[in-house]
Amino acid sequence: MSAARRRPPSRKGAGPRPARARTAPAAPAPQAEAPSIRVAKLRNGTVIDHLAAGTALRCLAILGLAPEAVVTVGLNLPSRSMKRKDLLKMENRRLTAAELARIALLAPRGTVCTIEDYRVVNKTRLELPTVIDGVVHCPNPSCITHHDPVVPRVRVDSNDPLRLRCHYCERRIRLDEVEFVPASSVPAIK
Ligand SMILES: [Zn+2]
Repeated sequence: MSAARRRPPSRKGAGPRPARARTAPAAPAPQAEAPSIRVAKLRNGTVIDHLAAGTALRCLAILGLAPEAVVTVGLNLPSRSMKRKDLLKMENRRLTAAELARIALLAPRGTVCTIEDYRVVNKTRLELPTVIDGVVHCPNPSCITHHDPVVPRVRVDSNDPLRLRCHYCERRIRLDEVEFVPASSVPAIK
């Protein structure tokens, strides 16, 4: 008489449990090597590597940016030779000799790679000439270069650390004093 009322077995929770994401053992993430960043998927353009840490943005300011420019900026990347370095990767951009001279002032150990069709077709280390014309203003307000129509000329006494000297008044120019002559008015660089 007592018909046991059977409850249908609860389906609650009877289904297959959703697989829980297995937490992988915390393997040490491989340290991102700067070289893999350096040329990654740049089809055509220029890579400026081994910039002293903290100089990439200044280099970028020197080079200027077209509105449509595609640029990757690396700051404080680990480097075997420099501990920390900056890097610039610019698509479809080549640097002129005048631009290279400016960058070389800020990055005496810098390297410049030209990329064509994903391959490095040219790699050069930035070098400063012994004399640079029309690139750096002399910070001495009494210098003849500020009063007469004279192209500023600096001599490079040392590359690294950088030591510059005004050709005319012999004033030493520290790196933090370097003020560039606008690129548009740059004459040939010796
Ligand atoms: Zn001077």
